[in-house]
Amino acid sequence: MNIRVAHDQAHGHAHDTTSCRLCGSTADKTFVDLGMSPLCETFLAHDQLDRMEPYYPLRVMVCGECFLVQLKEYVSPHEIFHEYAYFSSFSTSWVAHAKRYVEMITERLGLGAQSLAVELASNDGYLLQHFAPLGVPVLGIEPAANVADVAIAKGVPTRVDFFGVKLAKTLVSEGKKADLIAGNNVLAQVPDLNDFVAGMKILLADEGVITLEFPHVHRLMAENQFDTIYHEHFSYFSLLTIEHMAARHGLKIIDVEELPTHGGSLRVYLAHEASARVPSDAVAALLAKEKQAGLDRLDGYSGFQEQVRQTKHKLLAFLTQAKAEGKRICGYGAPGKGNTLLNYCGIGPDFLDFTVDRNPYKHGRFTPGMHIPIYPVEAIDAARPDYILILPWNLKDEIVNQMQHVADWGGKFIVPVPEVAVIDPKEFTR
Ligand code: ZN
Repeated sequence: MNIRVAHDQAHGHAHDTTSCRLCGSTADKTFVDLGMSPLCETFLAHDQLDRMEPYYPLRVMVCGECFLVQLKEYVSPHEIFHEYAYFSSFSTSWVAHAKRYVEMITERLGLGAQSLAVELASNDGYLLQHFAPLGVPVLGIEPAANVADVAIAKGVPTRVDFFGVKLAKTLVSEGKKADLIAGNNVLAQVPDLNDFVAGMKILLADEGVITLEFPHVHRLMAENQFDTIYHEHFSYFSLLTIEHMAARHGLKIIDVEELPTHGGSLRVYLAHEASARVPSDAVAALLAKEKQAGLDRLDGYSGFQEQVRQTKHKLLAFLTQAKAEGKRICGYGAPGKGNTLLNYCGIGPDFLDFTVDRNPYKHGRFTPGMHIPIYPVEAIDAARPDYILILPWNLKDEIVNQMQHVADWGGKFIVPVPEVAVIDPKEFTR
C-alpha cells in the first residue's frame, strides 16, 4: 500500500535466484507471467516523460514445499521503498476498518493501561490513533519518515525504522514487550520474511498475540485479481503457507477470519507455540478448505495464467467497443494495482483520457508506463465522461457512493475484476 514517487536513478539490480523466500527450497514453477512492467508506484512528473523508463519482469513463482506464491527479487527493495507518498488516512473506509479492529482487539485481549500495542508499518497513525481513547499505550514502527511525521504530529509515538530482528532486540533491551503486534498489509511487502517474523517472535510478550492481515491468495486466484501483483508485493499467502511460516519461528496459528478488504483478506492470529492460547475451529476449517481447493499441490496453481489472459481479452473487448461507439472514458484512482492492470492490458491515453486520485501528491503526475495524466477528482465533473473505470475496485462501493452525481449526465462505472462489469449509479444501492 505504499506509493513511491519517481526519482532520477530508478535502476535496480536483479538477483537471479529461484530459492523460496520462506523455506529456501527451489521455487521455479511459474504461477503467472505478466510480462515486463515499470515499478508501478513510480509516478512520473511531466519532465520525466521523455526519459527512458526502467521495466522489470513481473513473473510470479510458487514454491512446491511451502506454497508461498512469490515474486523473484528483480528490483532491490531499497530502490522500491525510497519514498512513500501513501497516507492511509486518505481512504475513509480503511480508517473505519482500522477503528473497528482496534475496538474488537482491545476487548478480545483485554488490553489496558499496562499493555503495549505495536503496529508494524504504522503509516500515518490511521490505526494506532484509535487506541488513545481506550487508554492503551502504543508504538508505531514506520520506515518512511514523511508519513511517520504525520503520525507523531497526531500524538502517535512512532519509531522511524525498518522492522526485523535488530530493531526487535533494541526494543526489548529498552524494556518493551508487545501484548499485541499488528501488521496490516505489510507482510506481502517484506523482502526478508524470516527476519521480519523472527523479530515479531522476539518482541512478543509470553501471552501476546500477533495479528496479520493480507490479501488471501485463494481469493486472488478465484477472482482473477492479477492486478494486486506488482513489484512492491513480494509474497502472496494462503493459510497453509502461514502455517509453515509460524512453525519455522516457534509460533502457532490460534485463529483466522476471512475479511472482505482488498478483495478478500485473511486476518490471522498468532501466539507463541508455548502459549496457553488454544487454536479455534476456524483454523482447521480454513486449512481443509484450502486443501480442497488444491492449494497444497503445485497443479492447484496451474490454471491461473489462462484465467488472467481471458480477463485481459474481455476487458479490452469492452473498452474497444465503447471507443468504437464514440464513448469517452476516464479512470478513477491511481493505485499500484491500477498500473499492473493498465500495463499488462496495454490501456493508455488511447482508452482513458485521464484518471483522478484523492491524493494531492499524485496530481499533475503520470501513471508509470502508460503515462495517463492524474488529476484531482473534480476533473470528472468538468469532463462528464460516459464511463469511469474504477482501478481500486476493492473500494468500488465507497467510490460509487461518493460519485452518485455522475448519474446526472448518464455516466456509468466500469469494474475490471473479476470480470468486466458496468455499474449504473442510478441502480446502485449499498
Ligand atoms: Zn517455500
